[in-house]
Amino acid sequence: MQDSMTKLKAMLGRIADLNGAAAVLEWDQETYMPPGGTEARAFQIGTLRELGHEFFIRDSVGELLDQLSPEDFGPGSSDAALLRVTRRDYDRARKIPARLVADMARATAFAKDGWKKARDTNTYAHFAPHLQTVIDLNVEKAEAVGYDACVYDALLDEYEPGMKTATVAEVFANLRDELVPFVREVVGRPQPDTSVLHRFFADDRQWDFGLSVIRDFGYDFEHGRQDRSAHPFTTTFALSDVRITTRVDEHFLNPALFGTLHEAGHGMYEQGIATALDRTPLASGTSLGMHESQSRLWENLVGRSLPFWEHYYPSLQRTFPEALGDTTLDAFYRATNAVAPSLIRVEADEVTYNLHIMLRFELEQALVDRTLSVDDLPTAWNEKTEAYFGLRPASDTEGVLQDIHWSLGALGYFPTYALGNLMSAQFFNSAVDTVPDLENQIARGEFGPLLAWLRENVHKYGRMKTATEILESATGRGLEAESWVGYVREKFGALYGL
Ligand code: ZN
Repeated sequence: MQDSMTKLKAMLGRIADLNGAAAVLEWDQETYMPPGGTEARAFQIGTLRELGHEFFIRDSVGELLDQLSPEDFGPGSSDAALLRVTRRDYDRARKIPARLVADMARATAFAKDGWKKARDTNTYAHFAPHLQTVIDLNVEKAEAVGYDACVYDALLDEYEPGMKTATVAEVFANLRDELVPFVREVVGRPQPDTSVLHRFFADDRQWDFGLSVIRDFGYDFEHGRQDRSAHPFTTTFALSDVRITTRVDEHFLNPALFGTLHEAGHGMYEQGIATALDRTPLASGTSLGMHESQSRLWENLVGRSLPFWEHYYPSLQRTFPEALGDTTLDAFYRATNAVAPSLIRVEADEVTYNLHIMLRFELEQALVDRTLSVDDLPTAWNEKTEAYFGLRPASDTEGVLQDIHWSLGALGYFPTYALGNLMSAQFFNSAVDTVPDLENQIARGEFGPLLAWLRENVHKYGRMKTATEILESATGRGLEAESWVGYVREKFGALYGL
């Protein structure tokens, strides 16, 4: 038995090496690679990823899994978890035919071009046939891997293992009932002046300020670094090397500032996974929603809070005396927390963001259930936007064509953003309950105890536990909307005098 386990771990270790090497190449492509390197790089990454996949779906891996049972290892042990998770990944990978993988790769290559063309010319018809293909292939994939209640379960499961559509739908329904009227109340109140955020902020100073904050957070520069890329991301080569990227706009403070805090949250999650899990499938965040809960916790619950700015605003003012010298802490705090319904998801504030996700979640389900046709999608999109935000897109480019996800073949991905928001408040509340003096610590720029709490209750497990298991053991409850709604009502109720 021990012999089979050793063999299995050796195989999984080699696969982790291949994937880690591919991640280095992907990171380089987004950060330093000259434009002429694109074609060669596509081959190199493709070869490494394909080898990793081939190694993993071999019969010999299945035979080793058959020889081993999680019950033979201590309950709660990392070896038992490794067998459970590897079995899940293996069965899923083996059930999806190679032909379907190839079809999806080809379809999304075309879909991305179609989406760009549709967006640039504001002509949905350029994207519609590609979207139909992406939906058909996703339904085929769902049928191949199987599901309990509905097709969407299988799609969601890829990004949020174990989560059910019915659970998300119920939690979102509660959220919607609270959020839609609350947003309407906020909109009726006077809005803060946000122009201060659009003054001039020198690139190098923004860069250094962001780094100084995440160093205080506890992002580990011995085991990570930050570089620049057009779209910020976090990537893990190994648990000992977790990279983040950011982008800087000299005429808008938010992207680099809050983007850096956000990616550091992702990075600290991966840096906090128990090192014994490295080079195994357990060495990553347990779900996209859980990942997003960590990034949003640091970005929003910490980084947009009043205690945080009580500590950091004086130094931000010293860093940008020309831009911020005449702006008070109160005015700055209000500007960074302005709530305004908008058409574009990626520009949405903390409060209205989840509405963008609910809209996509509902439409995606209708598309894969075939109760909504691709042709009728733009109209459905615009109607829902009007119902949730009181706004109507003037064009499909600022409506149904705004996100890249569907063109990449990703259906079932969007809900994880909102799940992350909800979980972030659940975790933060539990941390406040168990870490004495937490909010005063934040007001002093001390984050060690908060990070230690997250490491102990969330990070260290990697994929050993599902998101729901981690939530339940850390907070005593499953996924719920109440914590986040309570947080939003308290914070934004005070800001908007409600
Ligand atoms: Zn994120």
